[in-house]
Amino acid sequence: MKRIITLLLIAVSWTGAVAQLVKVGLYQEQLVNAAVVYCSSGSYQLVVDGSVVSRLEEGGILYLTLEDGKVKVLDAEHDFGHAESVEIKALSIESVYRLRPIKPELVSRTYDDNLLVIADDRFITLVNEVDIDKYLACVVEAESGSNAEKEFYKAQSILCRTYALKQLDRHINEGFSLCDGPHCQAYKGRSNGNPEILEANIETSGMVLADFNFKLITAAYHSNSGGQTQRASDVWLSDVDYLQSVVDPYSLHQSQAKWRDTISFKAWKEYLFKNGMKSVGRIPEEIIYVEQMRRKKYFVLDKDSIRMAKIREDWGFRSAFFDMFPDGENVLVWGKGSGHGIGMSQQGAMKMARDGFTYQDILQFYFHEVRMMDFRDLPDSSLPESARDF
Ligand SMILES: [Zn+2]
Repeated sequence: MKRIITLLLIAVSWTGAVAQLVKVGLYQEQLVNAAVVYCSSGSYQLVVDGSVVSRLEEGGILYLTLEDGKVKVLDAEHDFGHAESVEIKALSIESVYRLRPIKPELVSRTYDDNLLVIADDRFITLVNEVDIDKYLACVVEAESGSNAEKEFYKAQSILCRTYALKQLDRHINEGFSLCDGPHCQAYKGRSNGNPEILEANIETSGMVLADFNFKLITAAYHSNSGGQTQRASDVWLSDVDYLQSVVDPYSLHQSQAKWRDTISFKAWKEYLFKNGMKSVGRIPEEIIYVEQMRRKKYFVLDKDSIRMAKIREDWGFRSAFFDMFPDGENVLVWGKGSGHGIGMSQQGAMKMARDGFTYQDILQFYFHEVRMMDFRDLPDSSLPESARDF
């Protein structure tokens, strides 16, 4: 019975998925002037300035070049003239294309679903209009690799979906919703990795985390908490109920749980002095070392303080959760965890999934008092405008 329900859910989400297309701006760090599109599988309809002019079948090639503020469109045999916009529309869910910018020459990438091309005076805007769950599967894999348990991928999918939906109006004036760089979430096209990642997205399709005011949360995550997550207000300025510190035994004994570094004692003293700790030089040297049994917001000396997050950033440490020990001319820095420490620890969540916890258990462990719900049940006022059409 459970299997039937699961299959039914997948079928329903695929039906719904047709309408859930997200527009992702591609190669956003470059100004692309010309590109080649190869149809890798399935077939496509070629629409030039709103009119269907041809089909692109498996193995077919299309050349797109910017000329006088318009896109010149050619295939192997035809010249389709110059257009302001070109749509390469998938005719089945198996349709996949490879895109290769040739001016400038950039690495080619493979994408599912549609390609939209918009001419500008100086560049061509390339947009992948893709099913949001396929998009999220690629993002999740880029953020967490392909060797984890499915329950972990479900938790990670919900966080990446919450993040994406919250940012959906960011690039609205550029003709798409999200860019493919770290500014939104890194998206490098289709991967042939673990199929469970796409399944995890489909099985949690639409699910997001909202706070008790029905607002999408700041879906923070990091590599490893080192045994305790950090309260958001210790690092960022605002405090939110759902991002509090959690004692996290699941992150211990994982690959990113510990790190070591060495810095010069003289440089450390100078750093403290430069950052307003004027008592350095007057007080005993043995007390100017950071000690954290539990995570602290500040390193305090006399009446002065420096935020631990600032020390981490200034020294390039892997986390703000560390202790210091004297070592002759040097200071040994023994750290715990990796990343800002806020929200879900990915390695802790992977361990929880291996121990048999569900994605609901994982998210409830790392986030306090959040609602897990379908974003389409949120009030319109809680969603960016582009997400209301889904
Ligand atoms: Zn962006």
